[in-house]
Amino acid sequence: MQQVCADVAPVVGTGVVADYIPALAKVPIDRFGIAVQTTDGDMACAGDAREPFSIQSIAKVFTLTLALEHRGDALWSRVGKEPSGDPFNSLVQLEHECGIPRNPLINAGALVVADCLVSDHPRPLDTLLQRVRSLSDAGVHYDDTVAESELATSDRNASMAHLMKSFGNLENPVKAVLDTYCYQCSLAMDCCALASAFSYLASGGVHRGRASNTGDVVRIVDPARARRINALMLTCGTYDRAGEFAYEVGVPAKSGVGGGIVAIVPGRGTVAVWSPGLGPSGNSLAGVEALKRFVSLTGWSVF
Ligand code: GLU
Repeated sequence: MQQVCADVAPVVGTGVVADYIPALAKVPIDRFGIAVQTTDGDMACAGDAREPFSIQSIAKVFTLTLALEHRGDALWSRVGKEPSGDPFNSLVQLEHECGIPRNPLINAGALVVADCLVSDHPRPLDTLLQRVRSLSDAGVHYDDTVAESELATSDRNASMAHLMKSFGNLENPVKAVLDTYCYQCSLAMDCCALASAFSYLASGGVHRGRASNTGDVVRIVDPARARRINALMLTCGTYDRAGEFAYEVGVPAKSGVGGGIVAIVPGRGTVAVWSPGLGPSGNSLAGVEALKRFVSLTGWSVF
């Protein structure tokens, strides 16, 4: 990991921060952190791995996991499983495809998932926070400044939600769905917490308590669902660069415009990286470089 930090140093600080959400425009661009948790619970981290950041779209995997618990396969009648090939916040396909988003990891799909959570849980944001805290230890919270900043500038997401509502693909009022969506995106946590929180997807659906040292084993999803969520992350998790990312890095991953990327290596572990400078598709430039370097040094891959 020290080697990875040294190798990516020239890329850290390049790219642009996500300034379309005003609160994210203020994040210093020169940060880089990496954390790895192996499936037997060992954790290692380097750089700014203990600095919390806004996980943004990475939260879409947690909400998908929760929605599948209540909806099961019925969810797939309201959202697809195909990569979109379009930017994460595009409206174009939605009109052509009658309000059914391509997949749950782009904004439109995550809005449908948020709609399910609003219907299925009396306090969906509390349920989500509790789940993420239970998977990652303390230190996870909603960043109200980021959430309010996004809510104040969420015209595109509101447009998608209204369009889907007009096609009958939202059960709840647009405002309730958008509030939930913007708050889920504002979840703040550090690389170590993120690597821990995603470990269930590297371990066939099982989370092992780490921080408590209790060795508690909790089943979060069954092995088949873990495989399927990983498949969606591989094909749809890194915006309209998912093909390139699979080619270059070769593991399931989800990125967020806060500069985080979490990668899953089934049977091996999870790798969380963070660096706020983004490339044109919204993936962290130094983050992608670090994962490329990490998998080439370790040989961790699904291929
Ligand atoms: N909150 C962001 C948005 O809806 C999430 C985008 C992302 O991280 O991909 O635009």
